[in-house]
Amino acid sequence: MSVEICTVGGFSEVGRNMTAIKIDDEVVLLDMGIFLPAIVSFEAEEGHRNLPTQKLIDIGAIPDDHVIESWKPLVKGILLGHAHLDHIAAVPYLAGKYKVPLYATPFSLEILKAILHDDEMKLPNRFVPVQPNTSFTLTPNITVEFIGITHSTLQCSMIALHTPYGVILYACDFKFDNTPVLGDKPNYKRLQELGEKGVHTLIVECLYAHKEMKTPSEKVAKEMLQDVLYGVENKGKAVFVTTFGSHLPRIKTVIESGKKLKRKVVILGRSMGKYIKAAEDLGLVHFSRDVEIATYKSHMKKILNDVEKNRGKYIVLCTGSQGEPGSILDKILSEELPFNFGEEDHVVFSCKTIPAAINIANREALEARLKKRKVRIFTEIHVSGHAGREDLRDFINMTKPKHIIPAHGDASMKEALGSLAEEMNYKIGTNVFLMSDGQKVAF
Ligand SMILES: [Zn+2]
Repeated sequence: MSVEICTVGGFSEVGRNMTAIKIDDEVVLLDMGIFLPAIVSFEAEEGHRNLPTQKLIDIGAIPDDHVIESWKPLVKGILLGHAHLDHIAAVPYLAGKYKVPLYATPFSLEILKAILHDDEMKLPNRFVPVQPNTSFTLTPNITVEFIGITHSTLQCSMIALHTPYGVILYACDFKFDNTPVLGDKPNYKRLQELGEKGVHTLIVECLYAHKEMKTPSEKVAKEMLQDVLYGVENKGKAVFVTTFGSHLPRIKTVIESGKKLKRKVVILGRSMGKYIKAAEDLGLVHFSRDVEIATYKSHMKKILNDVEKNRGKYIVLCTGSQGEPGSILDKILSEELPFNFGEEDHVVFSCKTIPAAINIANREALEARLKKRKVRIFTEIHVSGHAGREDLRDFINMTKPKHIIPAHGDASMKEALGSLAEEMNYKIGTNVFLMSDGQKVAF
């Protein structure tokens, strides 16, 4: 009888997250994400979609769950922490073979349904909504608790498994934001209680374990963005802002800024529209009261024609933050959509480039095209949704885990969290395990 953990995916790269946890003879699966750069690169070279599951595994786009083949009959549930694609977008390809329910917050489930709808896929699994800061009995031996946390989309949760061996806490992804722009503050009280109760193992993101900082609040990103929008001369010029489609707090800031500037905010792009619709259907935001959202080409064309004529009267919020082909900014510059960027128009990148070679190349190419038209570019008007080294230190002090497994990172990121843990009197190999994709550890 024991606890066994298999680090299926996301432990050798940033993306395609998936962890399997075996408590005696029962298994729980946490997250099923994609590694987007693998898909983007593959599409750039081969140029088609709808790949079969095995092909997606072969190109490294989704977790290789063959490593838990022998655990398959023991799986009791699939738990999803938040709605980002590197945590949920492999569900359509992998979840069906486990005939168990999917548990996630209502927002994550809405996004999952939208992905399935877009890809014309169906799943046999039952969808069970779990509100943040609630728990339920999965089996007589395992109670699951979703703990509300701040990150960079809505209803993000840490997941605690209460087992006869103690709590296993899954903390991917999070930051400690004490002044969130949308949603609640982290549930520190509950995390402290878990620390007192006894955390057996903490599986925790290590993306910025090497960055000696406390990640700033989303309130700081709001200040940065408003400093550009209010503080730089833009009278009579077009203002475009791009960010991640899932970043509802940032979208909220753009909408508020538009009101202040008396510029009408228009939102263009299918992916951004998808996240906003999911949040509105659940009553979490009411953006469309204040803005026009266009997801179809004819609607976008009409709006862009208006913006062209009245460029000082709008803020256009759209996709293209990673320079991705097919995004709105790309389509405008390729003349698939009607708008002519001109001298001293503004394009604000309220994001960072996700550091994969394909994204860096795409962004550089997009910026070069904007510069040719003498557009003013503002980059990195952004703060991260991920914990820095000093947040991670506070978190470990708060939860006092017996064992730590760094997740959501490559070798150097895992080593950075390992070194932090050693500063805090843990020992790599004894109670800190730097695991790679497909490995198992037993307690
Ligand atoms: Zn995330």
